[in-house]
Amino acid sequence: MTSAVLDHVRTSCLESLLPGRVRLREPLRRHTSFRIGGPADVWVEVADPAEIRAVQRVAAAEGLPLCIIGGGTNILVSDLGIRGIVLHPGRPLVSVEWADCPEGVRVRAGAGLTLKRLVTEAIARGFAGLEFAEGIPGSVGGGLLMNAGAFGGELSQTITAVEGVDASGAVCRLARDVLQFQYRRLELPAGLVVTHVEFLLTPGDREAVEARRMDAKRRREKHQPLGYPNAGSVFKNPPGKFAGRLLESVGMKGERRGGAMVAAEHANFILNLGDATAADVRALMAEGARRVWEQHGIRLEPEIRFVGEWGNA
Ligand SMILES: Cc1cc2nc3c(=O)[nH]c(=O)nc-3n(C[C@H](O)[C@H](O)[C@H](O)COP(=O)(O)OP(=O)(O)OC[C@H]3O[C@@H](n4cnc5c(N)ncnc54)[C@H](O)[C@@H]3O)c2cc1C
Repeated sequence: MTSAVLDHVRTSCLESLLPGRVRLREPLRRHTSFRIGGPADVWVEVADPAEIRAVQRVAAAEGLPLCIIGGGTNILVSDLGIRGIVLHPGRPLVSVEWADCPEGVRVRAGAGLTLKRLVTEAIARGFAGLEFAEGIPGSVGGGLLMNAGAFGGELSQTITAVEGVDASGAVCRLARDVLQFQYRRLELPAGLVVTHVEFLLTPGDREAVEARRMDAKRRREKHQPLGYPNAGSVFKNPPGKFAGRLLESVGMKGERRGGAMVAAEHANFILNLGDATAADVRALMAEGARRVWEQHGIRLEPEIRFVGEWGNA
């Protein structure tokens, strides 16, 4: 983005509307679990629909693309970074409301709330349905978009509605029957910024719920590498197969490109050993996908989302 446009954004209503929450040329490695990513031209933390609308207006007036980053735990941001405005759901989009109902409890969670806090609070209150998500990082909004899941559970099983601000700036509510969840994916109308997600949880036996949570925790600790920045599984599991096993079978464990390495514990995890670039990670993914295609005839589909400007990469 030209510095003239940046200066305009700086002096536009955005900074006066959102004091202290607009940052220019913000390094995105600060906002991704990979600790990788070039700068965002503009990084804005928004708190409510009015602020989202204000950002949408500035983006439209300046002809700037708008993208959303939640917890940044399922994305690979390019080394060149993101042109335009990155919108980040912040406070008070971390609120959570609990309302008893005949089936159990209706929970309205802000998109910026961490999944971890939602899971912990649900279990502490004795409600079942989210134990599988123990240990999945990121936000409620990102979890919705990714239909995050593990060990046979996924968020779609308990979500009943989504609230957000659509591309025209209108507040909207999407009921469960129009939400078309797929494996690690929910397609929403283009430009929709999710502000809240509603869940229906059922009462559970506290000890049984806690035992399921501990089981998920143990399984995660046993199979997932800890210690280096990563973004979880980089490829989706193809139908009936595990991407990690396929990648292991073609010798990807321990493979390195620059500062990125395929984890020795789990071949579907790529670790940033300290100075990995997005290009290093892409190169390792391309190598793994090529070997699996050539040796098994299976096309691996990325689970992580590539965002930003990639040049010729
Ligand atoms: C160690 C580790 C373990 C993991 N284990 C699992 C696992 O077991 N299962 C699993 O499913 N995932 C796992 N993940 C991946 C990741 O944590 C999940 O996909 C998570 O739900 C992503 O949430 P996020 O807030 O970080 O989303 P982000 O990475 O910030 O964004 C993901 C997508 O959602 C969009 N988005 C985010 N917020 C909003 C919003 N408010 N409105 C509209 N769009 C939005 C973004 O534009 C982007 O396209 C793991 C990641 C790590 C690092």
